[in-house]
Amino acid sequence: MRLFHAQFQGRTVKGSTWRALLAGACLVGQVSCAHVGGADALSGEKERAAVEAVYFNGTIHTMDAARPVVEAVSVGSGRIIETGSSRELLARLHPGTRTIDLGGRAVIPGLTDAHAHFLGFAKLANRLDLVGTASLEEILEKVSAKIPSLGKGDWILGRGWDQNDWREARYPDRSALDGIAPDNPVYLVRVCGHAAYVNSAALRLAGISRRTPDPAGGKILKDARGEPTGILLDNAVELVSKCIPPLPRDEKKRLMVAAARKCLAAGLVGVHEMGIAAEDVSVYEELSAAGELPFRITGYLSSDDTMIAPFLEAGPRAGRGGVLFRIVGAKFYADGSLGARSAALIDDYADDPGNRGILMQSPDSLYRMILPWREKGFQIAVHAIGDDAVREVLDVYGRLAAERPAPGPKPRVEHAQVVAAEDIARFAKLGVIPSMQFIHCTSDMSWVEDRLGVGRVAGAYAWRSLIAAGNRIPGGSDFPVESINPFLGIHAAVTRQDLAGRPAGGWRGEQRLTLEEAVGAFTLDAAYAAHVEDEAGSLTPGKFADFIVLSDDIFSMNPAEIPLIRVLATVLGGEVVYRSDAF
Ligand SMILES: [Zn+2]
Repeated sequence: MRLFHAQFQGRTVKGSTWRALLAGACLVGQVSCAHVGGADALSGEKERAAVEAVYFNGTIHTMDAARPVVEAVSVGSGRIIETGSSRELLARLHPGTRTIDLGGRAVIPGLTDAHAHFLGFAKLANRLDLVGTASLEEILEKVSAKIPSLGKGDWILGRGWDQNDWREARYPDRSALDGIAPDNPVYLVRVCGHAAYVNSAALRLAGISRRTPDPAGGKILKDARGEPTGILLDNAVELVSKCIPPLPRDEKKRLMVAAARKCLAAGLVGVHEMGIAAEDVSVYEELSAAGELPFRITGYLSSDDTMIAPFLEAGPRAGRGGVLFRIVGAKFYADGSLGARSAALIDDYADDPGNRGILMQSPDSLYRMILPWREKGFQIAVHAIGDDAVREVLDVYGRLAAERPAPGPKPRVEHAQVVAAEDIARFAKLGVIPSMQFIHCTSDMSWVEDRLGVGRVAGAYAWRSLIAAGNRIPGGSDFPVESINPFLGIHAAVTRQDLAGRPAGGWRGEQRLTLEEAVGAFTLDAAYAAHVEDEAGSLTPGKFADFIVLSDDIFSMNPAEIPLIRVLATVLGGEVVYRSDAF
């Protein structure tokens, strides 16, 4: 875990430094634009004065086709001022300019996770980590171990189990939890976030009994006698989760700062935060404004939060609370997940005849839910995993474009895991962004053919087909569903293999991405998906000075070894915000 022992340089975490940086960032926009338009527009003297630091002696992959590899970059007021050879840039030093030797290392733009749950990840530090547990017994042991430290009635929270990893591969029963935790409510979320395993104490608190009907868009699984089994699907999860006492604000902030350190150490400079609750907006804003969160968070509000109305009314908040935190969009759900067989499919699940998953609302009600957000200028992002849900969302986007044409941000489909062949071309045609998580493919590939059947699997994780149809795919991980490590996503994208290199040639290897496309997905395409392609995504003069120094050159190594890459340093807005011992 040494990777995660981020060391902030004292000066970079101080509020005053970040406030200065933020204040400067607005000014630089103008300077840089002039620079991009033509360096001649600025006098050489002025240009040099703006340079605060020069990073030199690197193999810097800029992701800018105009100048793909350079040795050095100069930075000032949070932006790239110039790129070029070490000799060129060092020749223009003036007193006070810092120089940082990259030691010949490879550098790429800082990575952005285009679909993540950052606060959810932050809160995990307080929860049992059940990712990778191989049996129900292992989960019960972890719950047991927690009990002695708790008072009667305290909640036990956990996340990450996956019954597909167990020998019997079937849902557990609440009785197993009741045996070890009769007095403490237990709430354990499945790895996908769309199912929960709870005990009788939690069901009692939520008022769930044999007489409780399934909520709309959800299922309370019941046994042969009609009693709840302790497994809740999709909207039924909320019946219990809303009974969990909220974290105090200060605790939330502390966990978020710690989570940002982990992300920076993993090579991420920001995330598209999918689903921000009304009560949390001010938490992000306060942290960001105080300079305590050196991390770019592009926020999508939880449209289904009952307290969200004032935020809908207020419209997007570009830059409020500092440029690091923005609210650009709103998040909706069309269906569940393939793992829990609640993703909505056009035809039955191949391994569960009669089940086509759960479409959370009709096309008409989805249209009516989205409309007011779109009219306010929010970017729309709808979770859709099954081919029926993807089709519904495309239909709704098509209807919006036809009935309410408005020049707004391009809408997104989050996940788009299974797309019917006839719908692939509709994304580009409608200007809809397929926001995908490459690592889901390699996580799911061992069982997804069972769910979908041989014919339908052709449209699963169909990256190459989507790109061939004219789309750009922003890369995400959906963490904490998956690891925060973006190199695992890049590896999955270029190999479609697990970490052991299986299967040979990759699972449906014809859908693999090139390395340029995979790195591009987490840089250029992530910026494109958030409509900041003029500001981020490549090391181009005028854009944010966000980049990472790598242990190995990702562009000249065996793809199988990409997961072993370590991030030696992370630079955000020109400042080193993470530095490993090896740099
Ligand atoms: Zn998600």
